[in-house]
Amino acid sequence: MTRQADHLAQVRAFAATTLAPAAARWTKGDAPDPDLFRAAAALGLFGIELPVEAGGLSFDFAHKAAVCATLAAVDFGFAMSVVNTHNAALRLHLSAPTLAARHLPGLLSGQVLACTALTEPGAGTDVAALQTRATQTADGWMISGHKDWIINARHAGLSIVFAKCGAGDDGPAIGAFLVDLTAPGATRHATEAGFAQDSMGTGGFILDGVALPSEALILPPGTAFRAILSEINGARAYVAAMCCAMLGAAIDTAARYGQSRHSFSMPLMDHQAWRLALAQAQTDLAATHALTDRAIAAIPDDPAAQLLAAQAKVHAVQTCQQHLPALLHAMGAEGLRPTHCLTRHLAAVQSAALTDGAIAPLLERVARLSWPATPPMKD
Ligand SMILES: Cc1cc2nc3c(=O)[nH]c(=O)nc-3n(C[C@H](O)[C@H](O)[C@H](O)COP(=O)(O)OP(=O)(O)OC[C@H]3O[C@@H](n4cnc5c(N)ncnc54)[C@H](O)[C@@H]3O)c2cc1C
Repeated sequence: MTRQADHLAQVRAFAATTLAPAAARWTKGDAPDPDLFRAAAALGLFGIELPVEAGGLSFDFAHKAAVCATLAAVDFGFAMSVVNTHNAALRLHLSAPTLAARHLPGLLSGQVLACTALTEPGAGTDVAALQTRATQTADGWMISGHKDWIINARHAGLSIVFAKCGAGDDGPAIGAFLVDLTAPGATRHATEAGFAQDSMGTGGFILDGVALPSEALILPPGTAFRAILSEINGARAYVAAMCCAMLGAAIDTAARYGQSRHSFSMPLMDHQAWRLALAQAQTDLAATHALTDRAIAAIPDDPAAQLLAAQAKVHAVQTCQQHLPALLHAMGAEGLRPTHCLTRHLAAVQSAALTDGAIAPLLERVARLSWPATPPMKD
């Protein structure tokens, strides 16, 4: 067994024996116990792509996507929480060695969670409309603004915050700062969502004149916008993999139930009309899996990565949106129990549809990459 295969087997065991029993409680609104993040850290999940010298595992992007999918098969929210802290740790390692030396021990050990904050009450798809502003001071920066709908923000210790610098008001004016969310002037809040997804720790924060040292600027204006656009291709590909895993888990759950539940003196699975719904889901899953695998293989350097990642995310989300309700229905009332994954995944896919790009802007990207003369989408 290779190191990566051996690691994935350990993650599968963790997901089955530790996460699955806890996830049923998250469906009802409980948050994950902090010890679970430390257990994830013991498996190296916050440092998958970081080099061994920096405390990571030195594994590749495809392995990170496989880990995300394995966790998401149980709970999308927990998987997103882990990968968002991982990605912040990786960004610090790549862009800010001094800050990395200070903060990686907390992040890699699962003691400190982190988030990446672009979205604001008035700026989602239209990232360039963000209003958070950083102004230079004698010894660094002062940052003010409001971020909302941010994974991990309700309890994260650190955030990579995207803000306009100085007087600039367009995309190139955006820089990224590392902000300590426990610093004076920073106030975190939970963002409540109708679909119970508390394992994602979704929240926001208000920054009211938070003072930052000069080195807090980890991606200077002119580079930050481009960096996030390139990072987001990877995120779209692993979210697609997570959707595949959620649908796969739902099909397995329904199939197991259909073999044991009887109606009219035979297992549900023996009724042809019943099993065709599962067969259709399985067939569509095979197609979206194939597209997702191509997108993952294209990250980061293949010129087709942007197109494939957008297509994979759209297709995987829509395949889940089509089949998860039918699979839930196929289990009758039993499907509604939180001990099964179906209601959790049904809710999660609505979040997956928005994180790292909603469907319309992704289709717009597909159009512009396929037919480059297409005029830009009107916001
Ligand atoms: C659970 C969850 C977790 C999230 N985590 C993070 C995070 O960690 N960090 C972060 O920065 N953000 C995060 N987000 C925010 C996410 O990135 C945004 O929700 C997303 O960018 C869409 O923005 P919006 O919700 O403001 O919708 P809007 O931009 O207001 O769009 C509303 C709808 O209109 C459509 N639309 C928008 N513009 C156009 C147009 N020009 N033409 C046609 N249709 C259009 C969109 O597709 C969407 O369906 C998260 C969101 C959710 C739900």
